[in-house]
Amino acid sequence: MKYITRLNHPPAVKLPEDNRPLIAPIYQSVKFTFDDVEESERHSRGERDGFIYSRVSNPTLRQLELSLAELQGRDSCLLTASGVAASNLTLMALCKQGDHVVLFAEMYQPTRYCVRRLLARFGVMHTMLSIDDHAGIEKILASKPTRAIVFESPTNPVLKVADIVRITAAARAHGALTILDNTFAGFHNHGQFDIDVYVHSLTKYASGHGDVMGGAVIARKELIDAMRTDFIVMGATLDPHAAFLIQRGLRTYGLRYERQCGNAQRIAEFLASRPEVKRVRYPGLASDPGHALARQQMQDFGTMVTVELAADSDGATRFAEALQLFAISASLGSTESLVQPGRLMRPRDLSAEEKGWAAVNDTTVRLSIGIEDADDLIADLEQALAER
Ligand SMILES: *Cc1c(COP(=O)(O)O)cnc(C)c1O
Repeated sequence: MKYITRLNHPPAVKLPEDNRPLIAPIYQSVKFTFDDVEESERHSRGERDGFIYSRVSNPTLRQLELSLAELQGRDSCLLTASGVAASNLTLMALCKQGDHVVLFAEMYQPTRYCVRRLLARFGVMHTMLSIDDHAGIEKILASKPTRAIVFESPTNPVLKVADIVRITAAARAHGALTILDNTFAGFHNHGQFDIDVYVHSLTKYASGHGDVMGGAVIARKELIDAMRTDFIVMGATLDPHAAFLIQRGLRTYGLRYERQCGNAQRIAEFLASRPEVKRVRYPGLASDPGHALARQQMQDFGTMVTVELAADSDGATRFAEALQLFAISASLGSTESLVQPGRLMRPRDLSAEEKGWAAVNDTTVRLSIGIEDADDLIADLEQALAER
């Protein structure tokens, strides 16, 4: 054999039966093989376990799917290359022409785009409400056959808490599926509710370090199996190396989230005591309209704090720019703190009434709280408030 041939057929490393890595390796391989055609065929007929092609499945991805499904309290999971792919492909896989979807003005903007622009091109109709409008939710479900309700809790960015029991009960009564973008609350929250599909951006708390993107769809097995072929064919697969990094990040997920929540609570209390701040939105504050619901629904109150500054647009900009420990940036859930001023979150796609529900304006400032020392973060916020 010439060396060029050998280089492409390298010697295999086989681990002895009683010897295994403690950390699951990265299966950085697109292809998998069986010894004979019969077994390949049995695999493709679904008669045996195994792997054939990484867009379909890969052992590193399978490992992460198992971890995330268990954490969210369901039995099955599909991974995607980003969080938006998880929510958008879910909607595309579950909806068809003529279906009706309910969504909310307070949601993540790309989800609104997916329903109102993209799915609309394929004949899917929608109704957009405020997440606070319980009567409206019950009325629309009673009057219009609805395929799915897609919602968040707490919402991005103003942290309204959805009444999950009411929404899921109304959806169940009228045969609508519930899709919860659970990115803000995290995998350890909301598993006890009658939610059909959870979607997550893994870019945020799962990876936790702001260096990798991913998304997950978590649901009971029949629902995931029904969506699986569409996901495989739409092709927004997570890369095994990204899956490996996210799996590594997950080891400290609980510690990070807990610490970030503790910091967020202290920061929310500090900001609520300041005259430069008109309003603090944080479900952990007893004064927050979502506090009682969040207490019932969540194990903690999240790591995001959103404020309305007693300032104008320029004052909010000066505040964001004066912060030294909070970088001006999109995204959230990293170990380092971030700030997003309202000017960068303007909901341009909403009508005047919908903007009122969304409650984002130029003096809104969203803070993603990291794992730094809370006293240092508070000192930084204090000096920046003086600059507003
Ligand atoms: C970031 C985010 C997404 C999208 O995730 P990407 O990984 O950036 O695609 C979806 N929903 C919420 C609530 C988010 O915060």
